[in-house]
Amino acid sequence: LNRDVPDPLLLRLAGIVGPDHLLTDPDMTSGYGSDWTGRFRGSPRFVVRPADTAEVAAVVAECGAAGIPVVPQGGNTSLVGGATPLHGEAVLSLGRLSEIGAVDPAGQEVLAGAGATLAALQDAARPHGLRFGVDLASRDSATVGGMAATNAGGIHVLRHGMMRAQVAGMEAVLADGSVISRLTGAGKDNTGYDLPNLLAGSEGTLGVITRLRLRLVPDPSDRAVALLGLRSVADALSLVGAARAALPGLEAAEAFFQDGLELVCAHAGVAPPWPEAHAVYVLVESAGTGDQLSPLAEFLAERPEVGLAAAVAAEARDRERLWAYRERHTEAVNAAGVPHKLDVAVPLAALEEFLARANETVSTVEPNARVVTFGHLAEGNLHVNILGLEPEDERADEAILRLVADLGGSISAEHGIGVAKRRFLHLTRSAADIAAMRALKAALDPRGILNPGVIFP
Ligand SMILES: Cc1cc2nc3c(=O)[nH]c(=O)nc-3n(C[C@H](O)[C@H](O)[C@H](O)COP(=O)(O)OP(=O)(O)OC[C@H]3O[C@@H](n4cnc5c(N)ncnc54)[C@H](O)[C@@H]3O)c2cc1C
Repeated sequence: LNRDVPDPLLLRLAGIVGPDHLLTDPDMTSGYGSDWTGRFRGSPRFVVRPADTAEVAAVVAECGAAGIPVVPQGGNTSLVGGATPLHGEAVLSLGRLSEIGAVDPAGQEVLAGAGATLAALQDAARPHGLRFGVDLASRDSATVGGMAATNAGGIHVLRHGMMRAQVAGMEAVLADGSVISRLTGAGKDNTGYDLPNLLAGSEGTLGVITRLRLRLVPDPSDRAVALLGLRSVADALSLVGAARAALPGLEAAEAFFQDGLELVCAHAGVAPPWPEAHAVYVLVESAGTGDQLSPLAEFLAERPEVGLAAAVAAEARDRERLWAYRERHTEAVNAAGVPHKLDVAVPLAALEEFLARANETVSTVEPNARVVTFGHLAEGNLHVNILGLEPEDERADEAILRLVADLGGSISAEHGIGVAKRRFLHLTRSAADIAAMRALKAALDPRGILNPGVIFP
């Protein structure tokens, strides 16, 4: 690819987006060059900030013709280095495509620009008694385009599924600048390949998502949260299994451990929920119309796994206080160092064995490393954070990912492959799978313009 930006290209790009939205000064572009964790850093060749689909299409066509690779970037909250221009690529920032259309209360859908943040989408849905089914702690920055591109998961997957399940339609720009669009909102549409479904989870390698038709769900008026300190992972799993059967409003079942709790308390300056330590902490939330607290409390009172370490809350402020112990893990880990972040899933039957072996696996490789694990219990999805490793030292990452593969799991449950895990893709995808994915990439982006180096080694 052409390494020297010809000035005429910059002139043409400035003509498309306006000179204020083409950034070339390193002081202005550096913020787009590193990822949220600080582990991945690069220098964008330039940053271009189009305002609509036509501008995105024109920019991609120009960059493609000049052989300049492009990294689409939304809120830049990727935890796998997927939106970082590691090799001087151009950054295509989608933040200005933030328009959110009128909510359709009958169809329970809304049209949103790819750059709209999750928080803005929730704000738009709320007055209609609706909300968006995916929720993440990065909600103030993460964009719906980035969330679709990564097929984000989050804390309500148990009830509403992942991002792909919320996408009712999509418009996107392909590597040659052409626009594909399936936004009409027809409730059923079996006309050939489902391109939105293909682009969801493609991490900006197959197309640039510009607009989405998104499903909304009723916003429950009542909620109750319980935080429990339990004796074992086996108890945690049996409790959550029973809760799924007994509580129709169950929408979150999260887990964390003593070392993570201590990190959060120190970082946030808050007291732990109980003075004594517990083997595992489980947070469950039930939401619906009408009292949620009584059914949740009654359920917990009858469960043999639950002891004295149990707190329930229905008022918003109390619920937030309990949620903070779980939600502040990511920032507390980041404040403690530059983590290697592994987001894995293992079958529930193997979860206890994975947790029992994970620390030992890491310490065999690097005795000084520290492992902080938390995650979404119902899906066997654990965020394994390893502190104390050099950014380039992937020996412990590999050992953990091999353990996951041996136990029949996935090396990426919800964050994607990005650049952080591309070397390990073969651990849980077959040679035939990878060949099929490469064939799709080659067909849609033969010159490797979109996010080169992401997903594939
Ligand atoms: C505190 C915190 C908590 C988090 N919790 C969760 C969680 O619970 N579940 C979860 O799944 N993730 C979580 N994440 C990760 C992250 O927020 C998600 O991956 C999110 O979907 C990324 O959105 P973004 O707009 O920031 O995308 P970016 O980081 O900007 O980009 C992510 C990827 O998508 C591509 N991309 C971005 N926009 C587009 C577009 N419009 N078209 C095509 N490609 C695009 C990029 O090139 C990159 O490969 C968390 C992150 C943080 C910091």
